[in-house]
Amino acid sequence: MDCLFCKIAQGEIPAKILYQDDKVIAFDDINPQAPIHKIIIPRKHIATLNEINGKEDSNLVGDVVQTAVNLAKTLKIEQNGYRLVWNCNAGAGQTVFHIHIHLLGGRQMTWPPG
Ligand code: AMP
Ligand code: ZN
Repeated sequence: MDCLFCKIAQGEIPAKILYQDDKVIAFDDINPQAPIHKIIIPRKHIATLNEINGKEDSNLVGDVVQTAVNLAKTLKIEQNGYRLVWNCNAGAGQTVFHIHIHLLGGRQMTWPPG
């Protein structure tokens, strides 16, 4: 499958991996939008949030969120604050069609995000 994040998960494309287990992998975003900008994905290829279907997928989504929270704590931004972002489809800015969380922190986040 021609999917950038599947290739990162399979080690075919290099990335700065921060955490991985049998279900989830976390790595540095190549084009950071904040001092801390990490990407967390399930290993399973799911193109968009709209394809999430059933207990296996919702458990995976929970695993991805748990990994993002653990990473925020490891990076010591949990008290100051951080933002988790899921973009769904091009109109929301999704460019890589394998679901992922953006973990953003290390600066003041504005709201509304625009
Ligand atoms: P999105 O626009 O929500 O689909 O997010 C995709 C993210 O993947 C963007 O923030 C990109 O900077 C990031 N990205 C693209 N290519 C790579 C790569 N090779 N390694 C790490 N992050 C990447
Ligand atoms: Zn994929």
